[in-house]
Amino acid sequence: MQVSNIANEIHPSLTRRLFDKAKEYDNVIDLTLGDPDYPTPPEVCEAGCKAIREGKTKYTANAGLLELRTAVAEKVKNETGIEYDPSKNVIITVGAMGALYLLIKSYINEGDEVLIPAPYWINYGQMVTMSGGVPVAVSSDKEGFALSTELLEKAVTPRTRMMIINTPCNPTGEVYTKESLEAIAKIAKKNTLLVVADEAYSCILFDDAKFTSIIDIPGMRDLTILVNSFSKRYSMTGWRVGYAVGDENIISAMTRFQENVASCCPQSSQYAAIAALRGSQDSVDEMVKGYQRRRDMVVEGINKIDKLSCRKPQGTFYVFVDISKTGMNSSDFSFDLLDKAQVAVVPGITYGEDGDSYVRIALTRNDEEIREAIYRMGKYINSL
Ligand code: PLP
Repeated sequence: MQVSNIANEIHPSLTRRLFDKAKEYDNVIDLTLGDPDYPTPPEVCEAGCKAIREGKTKYTANAGLLELRTAVAEKVKNETGIEYDPSKNVIITVGAMGALYLLIKSYINEGDEVLIPAPYWINYGQMVTMSGGVPVAVSSDKEGFALSTELLEKAVTPRTRMMIINTPCNPTGEVYTKESLEAIAKIAKKNTLLVVADEAYSCILFDDAKFTSIIDIPGMRDLTILVNSFSKRYSMTGWRVGYAVGDENIISAMTRFQENVASCCPQSSQYAAIAALRGSQDSVDEMVKGYQRRRDMVVEGINKIDKLSCRKPQGTFYVFVDISKTGMNSSDFSFDLLDKAQVAVVPGITYGEDGDSYVRIALTRNDEEIREAIYRMGKYINSL
């Protein structure tokens, strides 16, 4: 049967092919997935189970439980000082992915362009395409992948309506500086662009890195939709809870879309999310410490391997490794590494052309596996 034209434009990712290939080998160390190995904190699990035991197993309001929306608005207020009305400006979604898709669907018309600083999380581009829009990748400053505001400005056309920023950034781990955010804000204001601020990794920061949200920049409140997730912060990837906060009309449109695609985020997951936000944040701090320890291990190990190098990411749980000196592109490198050393990494081309001389390592396996993976990568490079 013939599927839709848009469906034909959505191809399985290279990561998926690599993931499937990895299953053919024994003893693979899989460093591809941004899915934390840490368990969901027990008190969060208990809140979800308690909700189920108490029969809270039905639909909720399409925008989510008001109690959770209130907890989200309080978190945003605590972190930024900006007040949002939980009954009008907040929607709880099926993961941040749900929020991003509903948001793009709610705002983009056929042919509208969406700027995405590269390298970027592949799903943004796919979601824009799925919504009839045109994703426009904007190259970054190669030195450290800092955002190039000059290139960003040049990429604006009369069709541009939206910009998606992600700080800390998957895959590079870059944390946008306040100055970069101010420059983005200037472009957004000048051209009336809606800024989608994907802050899924905002709590995973290392050393003295400081996170700034773009809504902290004066005049950006009305032009920004914040998107966030419980997946990374609380190791809750499978609970599928995320949210968006911002303009009432846009949140209302997203809620109407949600009514027709998912109805709502599962009720038990929403109760778990309330416990996550309202409870102690000690386990988050522990996880971040663990990621930092693993980051240090990987950065030190990779930079000792001939032909490989990487910068120290300031946030997220990824390390973006420069493989250019091997002479291979990122796809050939990743499949060859899997074949010869049984280590699975994500080819950087997945994040746009700019990433093709890089591979992404996720710090979501235990220390021992990560150590072994680095050892195998060293051995593999020596064998080339
Ligand atoms: N945003 C970024 C940048 C991500 O890397 C991911 C997941 O990898 C998501 C959003 C999706 O998060 P969720 O699990 O809440 O859908």
